[in-house]
Amino acid sequence: MKKTNPFYLSKEWRKIRKEVLVRDHYECVWCRKRGEVTTLASATLEVDHIKELKDYPELALDKDNLRTLCKKCHNERHGRIIFEKQKKKKFDDEIFHW
Ligand SMILES: [Zn+2]
Repeated sequence: MKKTNPFYLSKEWRKIRKEVLVRDHYECVWCRKRGEVTTLASATLEVDHIKELKDYPELALDKDNLRTLCKKCHNERHGRIIFEKQKKKKFDDEIFHW
């Protein structure tokens, strides 16, 4: 298990997280783009940092940098990034061995 960043336990984050959920009407914004409605009734909703917290700590509490995603979309987003890195690594290895 990854250790939870203490930021996610802060009072400020909890407050802003709630505000983002309300702004997005407690609905996953990615699902909405696909024409699906995913709300708390059918999924776990999480608030995502568009520019990642570790890269842009100054945008941690900037609502323009935050969006509501369901757990599935959130995993997809982070999974895809890992996948791209792996692909790139494989490509580099191939060049190296060639
Ligand atoms: Zn979703």
